Amino acid sequence: MSFLITEIIANKKQKKTHTAEEIEFLIREYTKGTIPDYQMAAWLMASLLNGLSSEEAFLLTKEVVNSGVTLDFSDLPFPTVDKHSTGGVGDKTSLLVGPIVASAEIGVPMIAGRSLGHTGGTVDKLESIPGFNAELSLEKFKSMVKKNKLCIIGQTADLCPADKKMYALRDVTSTIDSIPIICASIMSKKIAEGMGALVLDIKYGNGAFMQTTDAAADLAKLLISVGRKFDKKVTALVTNMNQPLGKFAGNSLEVKECLDILKNENHSEYTDTIDLTYELAADMFYNVGKVKSFEEGKTLAAKILASGAAHEKFQEMVTEQGGQIKKLPEPVQSTDVLSPLAGYIKEMNTKDAGNANVILGAGRMKSTDVVNPVAGFKIHRKVGDHVERGEPIWTLYSHETKKFDEAKDRLLKSIKLTTETVPSEKLLWKRIH
Ligand code: URA
Repeated sequence: MSFLITEIIANKKQKKTHTAEEIEFLIREYTKGTIPDYQMAAWLMASLLNGLSSEEAFLLTKEVVNSGVTLDFSDLPFPTVDKHSTGGVGDKTSLLVGPIVASAEIGVPMIAGRSLGHTGGTVDKLESIPGFNAELSLEKFKSMVKKNKLCIIGQTADLCPADKKMYALRDVTSTIDSIPIICASIMSKKIAEGMGALVLDIKYGNGAFMQTTDAAADLAKLLISVGRKFDKKVTALVTNMNQPLGKFAGNSLEVKECLDILKNENHSEYTDTIDLTYELAADMFYNVGKVKSFEEGKTLAAKILASGAAHEKFQEMVTEQGGQIKKLPEPVQSTDVLSPLAGYIKEMNTKDAGNANVILGAGRMKSTDVVNPVAGFKIHRKVGDHVERGEPIWTLYSHETKKFDEAKDRLLKSIKLTTETVPSEKLLWKRIH
């Protein structure tokens, strides 16, 4: 069917609900290039301001899926499940839940993202391993999931091309933060990837897209309802991003944290990373019917980790994808950021902490930036912890020292100290099913 794009934009400006045909036309013609970016930007802004219904979010998701190729794992003799996070700082759980769940004879086909803005990306973490190839063809991706149960790659050009174009446009037109559009962007890629079930980690807080638990819960509910319309079992965990997760943020540093965890070393240093990993793995097991309760799922995840099977699975994946884990680079320069006062950490601005990491070279502000695999920081104190004057709160790492001062300044400005005791942050706010 054919429409005038100006009429479609005007309909949304007047708060009308789009028909399925209008949405189909919009996405089809935008992907072809017949609708230019400036008209899509006008529609995105009208939709952000005037809203899209859950049915419109579903239709948008469907058309974005149809803009490219789709995968299907339903012919495999085992179930498949993926996990997706809305993004944070220090969140390396994909590198842990993937091998844990795949060790239980469940396929984990994971198409992951790269870092953008203050948040990290799974693909950059894996690419800090020399030789690791995250740009496999979809055929190779599927054959690896079939053979080893686990494969993690970056988004390919032929999967949801409409999202790729729209995401770049949203980034520069201040139209990222619309719940239905975020929903279509996330869910289209997951549906196209062909997973059987999905667990979402919806982050809330000062380092997340969603600042409040309410906004995160709204996004979670919409994602779940859209997932159900595609006949997928989707569940969500709403989790805290008011401080970085784990002990390290930065690509090879986070891989090192995961290797320690997988090798059952220094677990007391990484309790929040491990706790969240168990929670997510429990939902993944539950969603494919492997366990009957989350408690059972958490116990199974802990058992697999303790057995060393997940470590073997991770190494198998890295080797199959060309990576040489023994050559994981280590930073040669480091400096401590010392506390200017004694007190309790009251608040940490996680977005600022993520941006300090970008300054160090661990992230990128635009998609063409190149990341430095060893740059990043170790975090010695979290919200609620006490620190003495002159004790380190962070250690910064890099191959070079020239950005240390700027990152230090930003990190020191990112925290508030108080003399009163402060409760620690709660990791898991809610499970939404
Ligand atoms: N992640 C995505 O893939 N898309 C969004 O719009 C936001 C987070």
